[in-house]
Amino acid sequence: MKFQSPQTVDDAIAMLAADTNARVLAGGTDLLVRLRSGHISPSAIVDIKHISGMRDITQEDTPEGSGWRIGAAVSCAEMGEHAGLVAAYPGVVEGAELIGSTQVQGRCTMVGNLCNAGPAGDSVPAMVAAGALIRVAGPNGTRDVPVLDIPVAPGKTSLTEGEFVTSVFLPARPDNASDAYLRFIPRTEMDIAVVGCAVNLTLDAQGTVTAASMSLGAVGPKVKQVDASAIVGSTCDDASLDALAAAATEAATPIDDKRGTIAFRKDVSGVLAKRAAKIAYTRAKGASA
Ligand SMILES: Cc1cc2nc3c(=O)[nH]c(=O)nc-3n(C[C@H](O)[C@H](O)[C@H](O)COP(=O)(O)OP(=O)(O)OC[C@H]3O[C@@H](n4cnc5c(N)ncnc54)[C@H](O)[C@@H]3O)c2cc1C
Repeated sequence: MKFQSPQTVDDAIAMLAADTNARVLAGGTDLLVRLRSGHISPSAIVDIKHISGMRDITQEDTPEGSGWRIGAAVSCAEMGEHAGLVAAYPGVVEGAELIGSTQVQGRCTMVGNLCNAGPAGDSVPAMVAAGALIRVAGPNGTRDVPVLDIPVAPGKTSLTEGEFVTSVFLPARPDNASDAYLRFIPRTEMDIAVVGCAVNLTLDAQGTVTAASMSLGAVGPKVKQVDASAIVGSTCDDASLDALAAAATEAATPIDDKRGTIAFRKDVSGVLAKRAAKIAYTRAKGASA
C-alpha cells in the first residue's frame, strides 16, 4: 500500500484519479479502524493534511455578510478552540465536539464524519440545519454542494473518481440567530447516536422566529432535513414546540435494533427537537444556554 502526502489540491486529485482504490485520509479515526479490521484494503492512502488551507478556519465575505470556511483537515478539537466559530455556530461546534474522546477529537474532522456516510454521524445534522455548503474538488474543477447531497446511503457518498472535499462553508447570518445540536445515547459518552437533532433559527428584534431549519440523524439511512416551519412566527412557546416535536416524530424513519425501538427513536426525535429549539432560541436571544 502506498502512502501519499500531496502538497496541493491538484496533486491530490491526480493521485486519487490515478487509482480508483485509493482512499483519502483526514484524521483516520474511521479509516484506520476499517483498515485494521480488514473491511477495506486500499492500494493507496492520500493524506490531505499537508495541503495548504486544509487546516485553516477563515472568515469569507459574501454579499450576505461574513461566513466561515473550515478546511477539510481541521480537527474537531481545533473547531472547539476557535472562539469566533464557537460564537457564530455553537451548534455546529457542539456536534463536532461530541465525536469520540479527547484523543479522537485531536484527529477527527467534520468532513471525515460526513464522508464516512454513517447515518449517525454527529457533526452532520448541524451542518445540514446551518445550510452549509461542501466544496468538492476533482478532475472537472470545483463545485459547492449542499451537505445532504454528499451521503447517498450508509457508507456511500456521491463523490466521483478523483474527487475529494476541500472545505465546509457555513453561511453568514445575523447576530440574533443561533443553533444547537443534541443527541441521545444510552451511555454518557463514546457511543453512537440513537437519535441526533439540530435546530438552526433566526429571530427578529421582538424575539419572534423569522426562519428555522431542523435536521435529524440516526433515524434513516442518511441525515434528514425536516420542516421546522412550526416555530416560524412564534416565540418558541409550548404549542409551537409541540408542533415542531410532532414534525420530527413524523419525519423519523428509524430502524428497530438493540439500541432502540422504532417507537422509542421516533419519540426521542420529538423530545430532542423541542429541547434543541429551546437552546437555539435562548442562544439567539443572546443569553447563555
Ligand atoms: C473511539 C471512537 C469514537 C468515535 N465516536 C464517534 C461519535 O461519538 N460520533 C461520531 O459521529 N463518530 C464517532 N467516531 C467515528 C469517527 O471518529 C468520526 O466519523 C470522525 O469524524 C471521522 O473523521 P476523520 O477525519 O478521522 O475521518 P477519516 O477516518 O480520515 O475518514 C473517514 C472516511 O471519509 C473519507 N474522507 C475523509 N476526508 C475526506 C475528504 N476530505 N474528502 C473525501 N473523503 C474523505 C475517508 O476516505 C474515509 O472513507 C468514533 C471513532 C472512534 C475510533
